[in-house]
Amino acid sequence: MTTRDGFGRLLVVSAHAADFVWRAAGYIAVVTAAFGEAHVVCLSYGEHGESPGAWKQPGMTLDRVKEIRRAEAEAAGQVLGASMHFLDQGDYPLPDNEELVLELADLMRELQPGVILTHARVDPYNYDHPRAADLTLRARMVAQAQGRPSAHPVLGAPPVFRFEPHQPEMCEFRPDVLIDITPVFDLKQQAMAAMGSQEHLVRYYQDLAERRGVQARRNGGPAEIRYAEAYQRVFPQVSGVLA
Ligand SMILES: [Zn+2]
Repeated sequence: MTTRDGFGRLLVVSAHAADFVWRAAGYIAVVTAAFGEAHVVCLSYGEHGESPGAWKQPGMTLDRVKEIRRAEAEAAGQVLGASMHFLDQGDYPLPDNEELVLELADLMRELQPGVILTHARVDPYNYDHPRAADLTLRARMVAQAQGRPSAHPVLGAPPVFRFEPHQPEMCEFRPDVLIDITPVFDLKQQAMAAMGSQEHLVRYYQDLAERRGVQARRNGGPAEIRYAEAYQRVFPQVSGVLA
């Protein structure tokens, strides 16, 4: 589960095809650059609600939008060195059902992630995002259950982090960790550039990374930090020292 550099296998659960890019591409690249393994699960393609660029093209169909979004996410995943998993559950609304929880739980058991990333607990603008987070935590619980039959071993207790939502102050998001993504920021930019259906967000997330970088330095990080991503813990950190 852990590489020689200490980076475990990372699992990112994304409600839509591009959420992982805006919010966690930097950390995904940090992990893979250190020879860690990163898996991204897209619960949907964001075909209805998060593909405005694709829908502006004449004669567009739902299937075609899904193809475009899948290709964009695959291109971003390739840039970041991540393995992509598409569950095609539909969006706006993302469904909530037991079958999806069980499918996600089985995938967690198969992949045995050391760390899980997902959405914020609340988002009054986008109910698919907290639903994805809720599905993730429920799947983690099921994957830990000794009595739940599976072809794979039970899951341990990987820490779960929430990546930064679009309007954090509206989503009960307060950063617990600022990750330095300066060395891999070029890869994040390339991944963002692959999301042609939402190109209006690229500048926004470049600016956000720069602001979080300033805050990382202000909070005691090295002066070399230029870009950062913010994360919020779900569970307490286990450590021998306070640091
Ligand atoms: Zn989304």
